[in-house]
Amino acid sequence: MLIECLPTGMIDSNCYIVYDNNEGIIIDAGVDTSEVLNVLNEKKINIKYIVLTHIHIDHICHVDELREKTGAKVLVHKNDSEKLLDPMLNGSGFFGQKTSFKPADRVLEDNDEISAGGINFKIIHTPGHSSGSICIKGENNLFTGDTLFKMGRGRTDLGDGNERDILSSIKKRLMTFDDETVVYPGHGDSTTIGAEKVFY
Ligand SMILES: [Zn+2]
Ligand SMILES: [Zn+2]
Repeated sequence: MLIECLPTGMIDSNCYIVYDNNEGIIIDAGVDTSEVLNVLNEKKINIKYIVLTHIHIDHICHVDELREKTGAKVLVHKNDSEKLLDPMLNGSGFFGQKTSFKPADRVLEDNDEISAGGINFKIIHTPGHSSGSICIKGENNLFTGDTLFKMGRGRTDLGDGNERDILSSIKKRLMTFDDETVVYPGHGDSTTIGAEKVFY
């Protein structure tokens, strides 16, 4: 399993390309499509799914173009799927863009599994930063969106964010993984579950 991190998204969001055997998934779509396509072409990667960790604008602003150019299916948790269509709920209204995105191709629920390139990914519903925030686990790697950062966690004062929920998600769902599990957040550097455990 190979991981490319493009850290150049809107508000410095990370976009991850996770792949093996020339097939993979993209996690979040805040990076310019041309930059993503360059990597895909160079490494000859076919994208099966674009998985959104949640629907804030800095993680989804290029999703429709990326879907069109790659032919991949867009996946989002069912609690966040309606918000894709609503400029106030997806945050684009705050940036004066008023963007309504196309609906997801498939909605996800807790414990769903998807596979690409021979890698199995598990969807972990971690509400708190938004009610439909998810983390995605593939092998020993955990993609946490804006739920868990290196030495921090996502804000809960936007939309339907909830501080009690994010703490519960982190403690009950994420901190149960092995200390060696590598955490790839939606912003900033990677870390490990072991390193973050001291804060919870
Ligand atoms: Zn966010
Ligand atoms: Zn973000």
